Amino acid sequence: MEFCPDCGAMLLPKDGKLECGCGYKKDLASNNEYELSREIKAEENVKMLGEDVDVGPVTNETCPECGHDKAIYKMLQTRSADEAPTRIFTCTKCKHTWRAYD
Ligand SMILES: [Zn+2]
Ligand SMILES: [Zn+2]
Repeated sequence: MEFCPDCGAMLLPKDGKLECGCGYKKDLASNNEYELSREIKAEENVKMLGEDVDVGPVTNETCPECGHDKAIYKMLQTRSADEAPTRIFTCTKCKHTWRAYD
């Protein structure tokens, strides 16, 4: 339910628009489309972030397993905001994963 920003009366749907007795009109159809496309975009962003498991900035960190000096770097925020985030490295050569604490 929506109310008129001008006079505060309830808006009535008419011909795809919301109308008020005072003459205020709101285009209902185009507004809904806009909201919908925005929601879809947000969902796509979340999906992409979740799938990018192996993609991240590469840093010069030496792998304790194979001695390779390049690893993918990720930050993992711990449950408590007071704690420093855990850094996770994944070796680009052997895929060994390890954590580093500050
Ligand atoms: Zn009004
Ligand atoms: Zn390695």
